[in-house]
Amino acid sequence: LQDKIRQLERLDRKPFPEVQFLSYTNRKRILVTGGAGFVGSHLVDQLMLQGHEVTVADNFFTGRRRNVEHWIGHENFELLNHDIINPLHIEVDEIYHLASPASPPNYMYNPIKTIKTNTLGTINMLGLAKRVKAKLLLASTSEVYGDPEVHPQPETYWGHVNPIGPRACYDEGKRVAETMCYAYHKQGGVDIRVARIFNTFGPRMHMNDGRVVSNFILQALQNQPITVYGDGSQTRSFQYVSDLVDGLMALMASNYTQPVNLGNPDEYTINQRKPDISVAMKILKWKPKVPMIAGLNKTIEYFKSELSVRHHSQRN
Ligand code: NAD
Ligand code: UDP
Repeated sequence: LQDKIRQLERLDRKPFPEVQFLSYTNRKRILVTGGAGFVGSHLVDQLMLQGHEVTVADNFFTGRRRNVEHWIGHENFELLNHDIINPLHIEVDEIYHLASPASPPNYMYNPIKTIKTNTLGTINMLGLAKRVKAKLLLASTSEVYGDPEVHPQPETYWGHVNPIGPRACYDEGKRVAETMCYAYHKQGGVDIRVARIFNTFGPRMHMNDGRVVSNFILQALQNQPITVYGDGSQTRSFQYVSDLVDGLMALMASNYTQPVNLGNPDEYTINQRKPDISVAMKILKWKPKVPMIAGLNKTIEYFKSELSVRHHSQRN
């Protein structure tokens, strides 16, 4: 009976997206920590479509199985329910290390866990990279610049961070994660990449992260007043998630071991963090492609479908 049920389930599911065929020598075994999250799941999609073998390690703290469910059962895909503060013993060629809560409500919810994830978790992934001689890319953040005194921020800027402020668990966690990467690089010969990611939006982002894009879309879709803070003259800049994924993959493929800003410099005020992306443009030949309005339309569609699922499940 179990076999029959499994067979019916298989018939019932949508076909997998079509993946490229890669020869054994070109196919890589890639670990994505935090691969069930917003950015991670889009990265997983691209790596899978290119024909690589992808393992996701995620503890589902802020990620969801649903973000990667379209790959579950695919022969190139594996989903591990794993907390990276514990060691992981697998064999891989590349590690995209994204596991960490990313939005303020999420990382402030349990600051000790945020620190453990970024410190112990990063040590574990660097230890793994050292043992199996894998390349490791750290998803760092613009928050390493803290409350910057320099605009826009080049990678050479050291930052302005309060080590005991409310955001410190995240900012300082990522700063020490970067430090660990360079220590393992110098002392252990680990091949590392460090991406300093600026604000990113798109489908699968967290609807309740309390930030401007998600707030405004939710309010508009639910016919609620739009909450404009202050006089509204402040501006923000966001990169669309597909641009970030392109940048992460270009960085991994490059030979550049210094930190690289990945963000969209389009809109800003003097009080807002804004990336200087000249390094990425020069070294990676990368710049953001998706205009804000096109990205917003895709994000609105996603929020609409999420709200209708929620509405439907509440009625049943
Ligand atoms: P997200 O919360 O959607 O994804 C993070 C993923 O990590 C989730 O799936 C979560 O369950 C997983 N995770 C958290 N702690 C873990 C642990 N201990 N063990 C295993 N898995 C764990 O966030 P995101 O926006 O996709 O961010 C991904 C990465 O990019 C993060 O490292 C974040 O710091 C960085 N980043 C994101 C942004 C942005 O605007 N989204 C900006 C700067 C940096
Ligand atoms: N580690 C891991 N997977 C591996 C190799 C190491 O999770 O394949 C962990 C290991 O358990 C340790 C951390 O990575 O907690 C650092 O390992 P490293 O070899 O750098 O240091 P050491 O074990 O000497 O402290």
